[in-house]
Amino acid sequence: MLRAIRKISTVGKRCYSAPALPQPKPNPEILYTGVFINNEWHKSKSGDTFETINPATGKAITRVEKGGKADVEAAVAAAAQAFKLGSPWRTTDATQRGRLLFKLADLIERDAAYIASLETLDNGKPYSMAYMVDVLGSANFMRYYAGWADKHHGKTIPIDGNYIAYTRHEPVGVCGQIIPWNFPLMMFTWKVAPALAMGNTVVLKPAEQTPLTALYLAQLAKEAGFPAGVLNIVPGFAEAGEAIVRHPLVDKLAFTGSTEVGLKIQQLSGVDKLKRTTLELGGKSPNIILSDVDIPSAVEQAHQGLFFNQGQVCCAGSRTYVEEKIYDEFVERSVERAKKRVVGNPFDLTTEQGPQVDESQMKKILEMIQSGVNDGASLGVGGQRFGDQGYFVQPTVFYNVKDDHRIAREEIFGPVQQLIKFKNLDEIIDRANDSNYGLAAAVFSKDIDKVNYLVQGLRAGTVWVNCYNVFSPSVPFGGYKDSGHGRELGEYGLRQYSEVKSVVMATPQKNS
Ligand code: NAP
Ligand code: MG
Repeated sequence: MLRAIRKISTVGKRCYSAPALPQPKPNPEILYTGVFINNEWHKSKSGDTFETINPATGKAITRVEKGGKADVEAAVAAAAQAFKLGSPWRTTDATQRGRLLFKLADLIERDAAYIASLETLDNGKPYSMAYMVDVLGSANFMRYYAGWADKHHGKTIPIDGNYIAYTRHEPVGVCGQIIPWNFPLMMFTWKVAPALAMGNTVVLKPAEQTPLTALYLAQLAKEAGFPAGVLNIVPGFAEAGEAIVRHPLVDKLAFTGSTEVGLKIQQLSGVDKLKRTTLELGGKSPNIILSDVDIPSAVEQAHQGLFFNQGQVCCAGSRTYVEEKIYDEFVERSVERAKKRVVGNPFDLTTEQGPQVDESQMKKILEMIQSGVNDGASLGVGGQRFGDQGYFVQPTVFYNVKDDHRIAREEIFGPVQQLIKFKNLDEIIDRANDSNYGLAAAVFSKDIDKVNYLVQGLRAGTVWVNCYNVFSPSVPFGGYKDSGHGRELGEYGLRQYSEVKSVVMATPQKNS
């Protein structure tokens, strides 16, 4: 993702001057902590609130209204009302929907330093990443979908007889969207922008660990001019998520998070009603390094492909398969690189790695590291908590990892790299595919035939070749197998937010 953003700034140099990284605001004022329904801020109906924590210190930032079933009820009612034919939203022209999204993108950029600081405070990710990747990236993704608002149109279709047939691409209705904590702002944009571009209405629940940026963006959407009820945000816990999933007036569900919760959502989505679902779930992505590569460059790419965002990335290259001939050198260099990784205060501009999102994630990662040691993998570097304040974990590299080790099978979601040896191309496809996940994969090689052979064989929604984590708003993203179904982003992403209506009209052959 970072590389993609770098590319944006390079392109930017040609047509406009890309903004330099502004100074962060380590103590951003917290302006919005309520439930956002009908363009207004509300207290939760239960009167309950919850703390959101700064993971760099473990201390509470503020209390946020804890939305529950009753708040979801009100939010869905508002979204359903806003979706009614003749409502201000349904009578908004497609071009105007686009303009509103462009305006929202402009407002995100206007407040970029503030929003990035808020994200860093709430999530722990380094400010430089929050600014370049999450905030500027979100504005970029928002603009992409703004452009689609008046372009995703149907077809006229020749049919037999005296008829004319055409298709209309119509919004699905009320969309329930449940997002995770690893890219709070980006996941907000990936879900909300295509939904609104197509004319749907939204009830969104941010993750309990990171509610603040979604709430701020709700206020920006109001400022941009979106009519009341179009975008509603209910901060809260699983109870609020489940209420969205079960609500009979919700037509479509979009979820990013764990496979465990995704499975539950899929099951619940079909109980009383057949809701459309898009699920973007976990991964254990293979990154296959062949022996013909430039080793220092492949080491750096594999390092970034795993450690980016504290390793909290669904498509992290967490099974790095290295060809036998270069394995020892690759291990040595990877360990040296991890030793140099700068861990610390996420507001410091030189920091590469901040804290994990919360204490339970930190503990889960440390427990997985212990399992790696117990299973007999060799620890090259790291393996411990970093410091004694906040939820930092040392950059960790395991080698001599076997395919059946837990660290090679389960999602760790932390800064823990697994270096696994392979002998030849014939064995590696089966080994790489031997996972219930199939979100992403990568191949590093200069040999085009070997690359194409692997690209065909890998069962994953994205395959990167000689690069990693390159995202674009126009390229679809999603999983095979237990990594989910449906695709987000690009034109494919729009299909998840539209229904196709076929219209067939009789045409008289003479004037009667
Ligand atoms: P999670 O439980 O799947 O949470 C993701 C979102 O779903 C959050 O908004 C969560 O709300 C909500 N949720 C939880 N239970 C729900 C339910 N029964 N019905 C409806 N919504 C529900 O993920 P997590 O616990 O934060 O993280 C656990 C693991 O998931 C991680 O270690 C990682 O392996 C994986 N994960 C994957 C991604 C990804 O991008 N694919 C992102 C995050 C985590 P609350 O926050 O209130 O629980
Ligand atoms: Mg937090």
